Amino acid sequence: MSLPQKVIMITKICTKCGEGKKLGEFHNSVRHKNGKHPSCKSCRAIYDHEYYVRNSIIIQKRTSKWHESNKTRHNVLGRNWKAINKEKIRLSSRNYNNKPQIKDKNKQRQNKLIEDLRDSYIKHLICQNTNLDYSDVPDEIVRIHRTILKFKRSEKEKKDERNYGKKEYEGISEKSRRCVG
Ligand SMILES: [Zn+2]
Repeated sequence: MSLPQKVIMITKICTKCGEGKKLGEFHNSVRHKNGKHPSCKSCRAIYDHEYYVRNSIIIQKRTSKWHESNKTRHNVLGRNWKAINKEKIRLSSRNYNNKPQIKDKNKQRQNKLIEDLRDSYIKHLICQNTNLDYSDVPDEIVRIHRTILKFKRSEKEKKDERNYGKKEYEGISEKSRRCVG
């Protein structure tokens, strides 16, 4: 007699799809008397998604309102957590940046930055050669610096092309361009 009772205990019938499923397939709920939602996780996910689609504007408004009103509290909590977990953050960010795929990604991003002569890269160069702060570099100076760098690059490319010929030039172009930048 005890065996069938046990079987009933560990499975439950979903009110939406009507399937008998293991209790683990149902979300916990304090509002329902057996501690489980009447519908299974998959049915719940479909329902939640449909609900979100129907009410997305209201939900987004509510979320941004919450963030707005809890900004200070949220920031203070974040700052406190960061202050307490400094070492933890340092270690996890080092681990993250040491992952081969992240290393590759960072390198690619860095190369792209140099290749495109982005503002941040030019500012970085200016800061290295002057005692200006990163945020103090005027936009006008960045623009002038970019023009100069572009000119230098094109001059160097022309020179390389003359010196090494087209085929060899293709191979060294990126490296030499980086030297100028
Ligand atoms: Zn279901």
